[in-house]
Amino acid sequence: MTRSDHSQQVNDWLQAGASSSEDVLDLLCECNEPSCTATVSTTRERYLLARDEAGQLLVAAGHEHASQRVVHAWGEVLVVAPTLAAPLIA
Ligand SMILES: [Zn+2]
Repeated sequence: MTRSDHSQQVNDWLQAGASSSEDVLDLLCECNEPSCTATVSTTRERYLLARDEAGQLLVAAGHEHASQRVVHAWGEVLVVAPTLAAPLIA
């Protein structure tokens, strides 16, 4: 399991505890840097928007990788996607 996978699992669990879509969640940065301890604060609504597309990750600004493109930029929070279309279904 990559760090990104782990962060996404934790974040899924955190967002499940939110009571409304306006709740601000303190989520883990989903970049793949093992030493990253950044958190990203965003609303549940935006979190779910990021999750809408498979492969998108929620990362702190500056944590995007050169191979990723920024889909959304919400201040200190970015949603990134892989630049190269990876096959989603093996
Ligand atoms: Zn990070």
